[in-house]
Amino acid sequence: MNDQQLLRYGRHILLNEIGIEGQQRLLDARVLIVGLGGLGSPAALYLAASGVGQLTLCDHDTVDLSNLQRQIIHRTSTVNQPKVASAQAALHEINPEVECIALNVRADAAQLHELVRNVDVVLDCSDNFATRYAVNRVCLALRKPLVSGAAIQFDGQVAVFDFRKADESQRTVSPCYNCLFPEDSLAAELRCATTGVFSPLTGIIGTLQAAEALKLIIGIERGLSGKLLTVNALDMNIMRSSLNKDPACSACGNSGLS
Ligand SMILES: [Zn+2]
Repeated sequence: MNDQQLLRYGRHILLNEIGIEGQQRLLDARVLIVGLGGLGSPAALYLAASGVGQLTLCDHDTVDLSNLQRQIIHRTSTVNQPKVASAQAALHEINPEVECIALNVRADAAQLHELVRNVDVVLDCSDNFATRYAVNRVCLALRKPLVSGAAIQFDGQVAVFDFRKADESQRTVSPCYNCLFPEDSLAAELRCATTGVFSPLTGIIGTLQAAEALKLIIGIERGLSGKLLTVNALDMNIMRSSLNKDPACSACGNSGLS
């Protein structure tokens, strides 16, 4: 680290849990953020400010005026631009040291596999179940830690699935997203576009995702791994519960791929 970096990241380096070594891990790390909306915005801002070496941003959408109520990485001046280009410009302003790869695509399973293969941690900041299941399966197959987030109306949640740990028979120890919300369950999909979402809730959830991602990179084994944090922003009630691996899970269980 040079003098400028020691200065920029000084308040991290001062923390016993991070120090020079932890900050260097952040500088060397590569993170994939799927979705640059309400959750991806604050997550990307904090990861870039923290000095994560490489951020890959994946989103097929363009910035719409109705996004600006909560998607704080975008600007009125970037309406109609691809979200990843808008985000890339904002991140460069904050920290030009961060290599930012902007992919203006809706990644299919094959593309996701390629993207996830090349990173250390994945943040699922998408807004639909199809993407969440696809990201979960790829992270599981490649044993990459996944930080999953969702926010709708006044309710949000964060869960961390650290697929890096395996048991003696090479099965992942962690539960997966599909254990929590089985793909065949008939959970009705709620989308912000039709149901609304409280602006700062997306900031709370996306920021929690950034915090968990940083700790996964640094190697701090405390936090939400194998746990679900739910936030209700009306009562401001925050609850943490342990997740169990479902032996019958179609993604990670006995009948699954891993
Ligand atoms: Zn599972």
